[in-house]
Amino acid sequence: MKSFKGGIHPEENKITTGSLIKEMPAPELIVIPFSQHTGAPAKPLVKKGDRVLVGMKIGEAEGYISSPIHSSVSGKVKDIRVMPHPVSAIPVLSCVIVNDGENEPDPSIKKRTSYDTLSVEELKNIIKEAGIVGLGGAAFPTNVKLSPPPEAHIDTLIINGAECEPYLTADDRLMQEMPERILEGANIIAKILGVKEPIFAIEENKPEAISKMKAAGANVVTLKTKYPQGAEKQLIKAILDREVPRGGLPFMVGVVVQNIGTVKAVADAVIYGEPLYKRVLTVTGDGVKNRGNLLVAVGTLFKDVIDFMGGYTDNTIKLIMGGPMMGISQKTDTVPVIKGTSGILLLKGEQANIPHSEPCINCGECVEVCPMHLVPTLLAKLSENGKVKMANRWGIMDCIECGSCSYVCPAGIKLVQAIRLGKYLLRKERSKK
Ligand code: SF4
Ligand code: SF4
Repeated sequence: MKSFKGGIHPEENKITTGSLIKEMPAPELIVIPFSQHTGAPAKPLVKKGDRVLVGMKIGEAEGYISSPIHSSVSGKVKDIRVMPHPVSAIPVLSCVIVNDGENEPDPSIKKRTSYDTLSVEELKNIIKEAGIVGLGGAAFPTNVKLSPPPEAHIDTLIINGAECEPYLTADDRLMQEMPERILEGANIIAKILGVKEPIFAIEENKPEAISKMKAAGANVVTLKTKYPQGAEKQLIKAILDREVPRGGLPFMVGVVVQNIGTVKAVADAVIYGEPLYKRVLTVTGDGVKNRGNLLVAVGTLFKDVIDFMGGYTDNTIKLIMGGPMMGISQKTDTVPVIKGTSGILLLKGEQANIPHSEPCINCGECVEVCPMHLVPTLLAKLSENGKVKMANRWGIMDCIECGSCSYVCPAGIKLVQAIRLGKYLLRKERSKK
C-alpha cells in the first residue's frame, strides 16, 4: 500500500499562473444571494421593480456576525426569491437583477484624498460597510476578525499568499499584478491591529509573486510548497512556531491572518470607496475550452462564466467551486459567483473519477495525514449517524476541510463530505439554543 507518512502531494496543476487577470463584462441577468458569509443573512433593502446602481447597498447586515450585500450592476430588481446557491444545500433568498448595461455607479463610491487621518474605528466601519469578508474560504466578516477581544495581544499580522490549493492562481496573479495595492491594504490592516509590519507568507512555487511583492517593499517569508500550507494554523506554526490551541483561534497566540484577496478588497474600500461586489477567480481544468483568471461581478452565474471562457469541452463531468481538495461539487451551473468563489474548476474523464466507496479497512491513513491530528474515520461515522455532540467532543470543528483524508482513503470513503455535514448539523443545533 502507498504510504503518505511525509504528507500528501496533490499535483499542483497551476496552469493559469501566467494568465493576466481579464475583466468579464457582467451578463444580462445577475443573482445576488443575501447570504454569502459566515453568520446571519443580510436583510433585503430593495424590492421588485427598484432601480439599483453599481456598488449600491441592497442588503443590510443583521447582527454582529453578518455582512452587507451590494449590487454589482446597474439595472432593475426583477425579483427577490430563493435561488440555488453554490455553498448552501438549500436555496437562499437572492436578489435577481436585470443588468441595464449602463454600469452607473452609486454616488457613494468616491476615491478618498487621504485616509491616514482616519481612526481605527472609522477604518473598521468602512470595511464593515463595504461588505468585506474573508475571501480565502470561510467568508467570515473581516471587521469582526479585526476586532479581537481586549485581552488578546496581537503582535503579528500574516498575509496569506500560500494559495496551496491545486489549480487556483487568483491570489498569485493579484500579487503579480497589484503588489502595491495589496501592500497598502495590508498596511491599513496593520494600523487597525497596531502591528508594525505585516508578514507576507508565500509558497516557493510563486517566484514572480515573491519578487513583485518584495520589489513593492513587502516583508516576504518564503514557504515550502506543501499541502495544506495555507491553512491558518499551519501558517502560524510554520512561520512563528506557535500552536493555536484545539478549538481556539489565531488571536489566542497573538496572530491575525488575512488572505490576499481580502487585503486587496480592504484597499479598494478604504482608498477608492468601493464595496466588495466583484472578485478575481480562476476558471480552469480540462473541462473548459479556455482557462484563465477573471475579474467577475458577484452574482454572475457559473454558466455565463463558462460561456465567456468558450464553453465546456466534450465529456466534462465535474463542476467544482474552488479547487479539487477544498472545493464544493456543484449539481448545476446556474449558481452564482459569490464573494467566496476563488475558482471554477471543470474536470473530465479520469481526473473526475469518483471512486466507488468500500467499507473502511481500518488502515489508519486518514489519521496519519490529518494536519489537525483528528480521527477522520470516526468523525465521518459520527456525522453520518447524527451523533454531532460526540463528534464535537472529538474536535470536529477543528477540521479545516483540507480534504487530505478523502485523498488518501484507499476505500474511497467521502470523509470530508461527511465531516462537512456533521459540522453543518452541529452549527444548526447550536443556533437553536
Ligand atoms: S479531518 Fe479535516 S482537517 Fe483532517 S484531513 Fe480530513 S479534512 Fe483535513
Ligand atoms: S476511512 Fe479510509 S483511510 Fe481512514 S482508516 Fe478507513 S479505509 Fe483507511
